[in-house]
Amino acid sequence: MSKELTHFIGGKHVKGTSGRFGDVFNPTTGELTGKVPLVSQAEMQAAIANAADAFPGWAATSPLARARVMFRFKELVEKHMDEVALLVSNEHGKVHSDAKGSVQRGLEVVEFACGIPHLLKGEYSEGVARGIDLYSMRQPLGVVAGITPFNFPAMVPMWMFAVAIACGNTFILKPSEKDPSCPLRLAELMLEAGAPPGVLNVVNGDKVAVDTLLTDPRVQAVSFVGSTPIARYVYATAAAHGKRVQAMGGAKNHMIVLPDADLDQATDALIGAAYGSAGERCMAVSVAVPVGKKTADALIERLTPRVRALKVGPSTAPDSEMGPLVTREHLEKVKGYVDLGVKEGAKLVVDGRSLKLQGYEKGHFMGGCLFDEVRPEMRIYREEIFGPVLSVVRAGDFEEAVRLPTEHEFGNGVAIFTRDGDAARDFASRVQVGMVGVNVPIPVPLAFHTFGGWKNSAFGDTNQHGPEGVRFYTKIKTVTSRWPTGIRAGADFNIPTMR
Ligand code: NAD
Repeated sequence: MSKELTHFIGGKHVKGTSGRFGDVFNPTTGELTGKVPLVSQAEMQAAIANAADAFPGWAATSPLARARVMFRFKELVEKHMDEVALLVSNEHGKVHSDAKGSVQRGLEVVEFACGIPHLLKGEYSEGVARGIDLYSMRQPLGVVAGITPFNFPAMVPMWMFAVAIACGNTFILKPSEKDPSCPLRLAELMLEAGAPPGVLNVVNGDKVAVDTLLTDPRVQAVSFVGSTPIARYVYATAAAHGKRVQAMGGAKNHMIVLPDADLDQATDALIGAAYGSAGERCMAVSVAVPVGKKTADALIERLTPRVRALKVGPSTAPDSEMGPLVTREHLEKVKGYVDLGVKEGAKLVVDGRSLKLQGYEKGHFMGGCLFDEVRPEMRIYREEIFGPVLSVVRAGDFEEAVRLPTEHEFGNGVAIFTRDGDAARDFASRVQVGMVGVNVPIPVPLAFHTFGGWKNSAFGDTNQHGPEGVRFYTKIKTVTSRWPTGIRAGADFNIPTMR
């Protein structure tokens, strides 16, 4: 049975009035479970007005009081962890343990945001000239917006709104229309934690919603995470409308395996990083690059039985290792890429296309796929597939292995597996990718560091969370001050210089 979802504006659930709806499915059963309202321009403008009204009061709330809201929110999400994670599994398809992990990674940004009184401290220089002191402060921007992808309906929104709200901004979250229930629940919990109405709003929608946020003059900054074509569009449009913007895009993450690597450890790492969350992670490893024929043959020999043995099952079954894909359309797209890889001449070692799960025939399931002998000119190598498909590209030597991720149009994450410290250090220094793992397959930095890729994986120059997040959601003001102390120098027509 499908239920009609809402928006969450001004601290209340609000029914959509545009008459337009999107379908929300349970990927495990393939059932239509919800109708999500797609906002009209006028409804979005009303939500922006609401957030703008809430801004002065929230900005004037002390950083410590704002931090206390974050502390309470963290406790509430922890208390409701199973329920929140289930909302993720039921609409995204991630297995429950993975969904919980994703909520936890979002909560780590909330924990970071609890330190906002410290993070907002400015700088002070006493006596920069006679009787003159100079200090800087960080102030919130106003109404800011976050536009998020389907694959992390809890974590990515928390990357954004936790930092933005702690900094004193009010926030409009436009989550993916494929899995909106979790973001709506998070907004309820923020209200319960003490965030005043209008501080966190969830407005559901499609391009109409996004375009309104990108062009409305009351929105000061836009944070986007999603696919590269939309990231590029969001970056260009928001910047053209005078907004601060960070826009994270797609990925093709390589994992280099040098001949001296512990191959069992590398195999474990690849299985988890390529097939966890059915490959629907922007930091999933989708390309393995063994160096040398011997390493490649040994790696394929280890990977093949493991990919065949993956436990694909309902996202709520405790022993499932990999759940379904988000929608039928996405499933068909991923299978289409596997068809393409075969046509392009790659060797399909494990073919998961025809997997059917008894009792879940309408679920969006496929098995893991493994390609060997993928070459850099193939589309399955150049394009993001975003599914449980691992491509092995065999490199002749270390230099070729450095070149592959460096020359790829995406530059989100990369990993190298080796016991050779010199090689790892050289690789980490030279590779043209934003986040690097050394014997760590998914190098997602913790909340107090910063997340962001290079090249076509991110547009704008400020990353998500960590100190960069605080910089993104605040503007710096610098005050030069002198108190009348009897110093009188007379009018000076020259540029002030310090003596
Ligand atoms: P998507 O680009 O289709 O959608 C992202 C957001 O943009 C959604 O809220 C959607 O409603 C909106 N949108 C979609 N089409 C639009 C249009 N034409 N105009 C305006 N807005 C539009 O991405 P997705 O399929 O939801 O998510 C998967 C993608 O996100 C993958 O490419 C993945 O790599 C990427 N991703 C990147 C990161 C990162 O940090 N780099 C993190 C997670 C996901």
